[in-house]
Amino acid sequence: MRVRAYRFRAYSSKTTAGVLKTQLEVACKLYNTLLHAEQEEYEKNKRTMNKTELRQLALDLRKQNQEFQVLYAQVAQQVADRFYQARQRFFDGVANKPKKKRPHRYLSLVYPQYGWKLSNWREVGRGKNKSKKARLRLSKIGFFTLVIHREFPLEQVSQVCIKMYPSGRIYVIFTVEEAEAEEQQSEEPRKAVGVDLGIARLTTLSDGRYLENPKPLERSLERIRVLQRTLSRKRFLSKNWLKAKIRLAKQHEHVKDFRRDLFFKLGALLSQEYDVLVLQDLNLQGLIQKGVTRTRRMRLYDSSFSEIRRILEWEFVKRGKLVLPVPSYNSLRECFLCGGINQNLTLEDRVFHCPYCSFTLDRDLNASLVLLKRAGWVPPGVPAVELRPIPPLPSLGLKKRRQGGAMKQEAPSVRAG
Ligand SMILES: [Zn+2]
Repeated sequence: MRVRAYRFRAYSSKTTAGVLKTQLEVACKLYNTLLHAEQEEYEKNKRTMNKTELRQLALDLRKQNQEFQVLYAQVAQQVADRFYQARQRFFDGVANKPKKKRPHRYLSLVYPQYGWKLSNWREVGRGKNKSKKARLRLSKIGFFTLVIHREFPLEQVSQVCIKMYPSGRIYVIFTVEEAEAEEQQSEEPRKAVGVDLGIARLTTLSDGRYLENPKPLERSLERIRVLQRTLSRKRFLSKNWLKAKIRLAKQHEHVKDFRRDLFFKLGALLSQEYDVLVLQDLNLQGLIQKGVTRTRRMRLYDSSFSEIRRILEWEFVKRGKLVLPVPSYNSLRECFLCGGINQNLTLEDRVFHCPYCSFTLDRDLNASLVLLKRAGWVPPGVPAVELRPIPPLPSLGLKKRRQGGAMKQEAPSVRAG
């Protein structure tokens, strides 16, 4: 069984959004109360409470305290679960000790089984603008209109999470337990693609195609800087501070959405064309720390290698296809043809030149071919490929955004900066 999440944008009235906000604050308070109770229990009796005790305590607090009664009972219990898990992660040595949470950092509520209902499914719009909507009722909060942009197995939903992003946008996340996709036992030979991740070119494929790095953060940086400066001048947690924070969060979310959108489209493209994905096994943190200059560090961060990897892998796994991570050690310096190592290659060199067999190729393309070779796929000789940009991504049979008035037929150019 695999857990899969389906996220949908939710819209609500201002009142309902206000109720959600209040409940988040209350849930945060409940979390902090549990944390406090746990600390007292430990000081008094030198023991920690188990999951059942914490849940019971949450319910008791809800019973005794008028304020906590705005929460749905199971939601209150889930707050206890959340604290329990945070503490467990601390005991397992993978996280810091749970701290008191601040209201502006407590952003989601979870309905584990009951308390939610989807109804009023309907189709709206026409042609390309057609979309499906549904109404979600959450007990004790109210109604939300969801835009159902993709199919999902409603009967298998195991929990519903409502999340208010720092920008004020609301999303609803349905968690579904699904059977693992069967691996396709297709007949050999299968098609494999090697993917080299880089800064100048975000991805270079072993078939010669590449995607420029759109550097979304770098392009929004000026605006983010201004917003950040405004925020830092406001009094912490004051009304104006919160307002400035929302404006900043919107800008950051835009950058994040841009990346995810691009990566998912790339993933869809590759997983439709190929059966095997070969990726470099990359230690990103090390790379960022080694980043020589500040700009280079930021560009590494802006390229979000871990996210692109995760999304590409997911697109392949989802379709029952194979992902092979291979060690990336020296992949940039190794000659694809003879395996010799060019020690003198620096990060600034865009072209790989082999000192042993005088093989010359674009550096990133050579690296992606080396990766492919390391995974055991050897194309016969040097593939007769030339470097070319990946054609426009925003049209992979994926749904198009409304473009105002008539549909534009000519495809927009690659979303490179
Ligand atoms: Zn060579």
